[in-house]
Amino acid sequence: MDCVFCRIIAGELPAKKVYEDEAFVAFHDIHPKAPVHVLVVPKEHVPRLFDYPDDPEGERKLGALFRTVNRVAREVLGLEGYRVVVNVGEKGGQEIFHVHVHILGGWR
Ligand code: AMP
Repeated sequence: MDCVFCRIIAGELPAKKVYEDEAFVAFHDIHPKAPVHVLVVPKEHVPRLFDYPDDPEGERKLGALFRTVNRVAREVLGLEGYRVVVNVGEKGGQEIFHVHVHILGGWR
């Protein structure tokens, strides 16, 4: 397994986890770009956001991903406002090819 996030999900690499359910995990970014910087990651290995199928199942998975982002940001991290970033594909600045949503916040 050469995917860093799959290895975190499998428990093979350490991470500062803040949330986990059957479909998602959230953990602190190792190089934080904000006072709070957490990544929400689906357990299913999908490389890029546009790899979700353009059908009802893809729509369900995207909805679940962003519902989880809101839950983690508000209920787990206690943020009232936050920035959400998804880098998509090499030309979009994506470095790890396993879908993840950045939650950035905690500014005063
Ligand atoms: P992206 O450009 O959206 O693919 O960003 C990947 C993010 O993953 C970067 O912000 C990295 O700092 C972060 N990252 C890389 N390896 C790890 C790791 N082992 N644990 C937590 N965050 C990581």
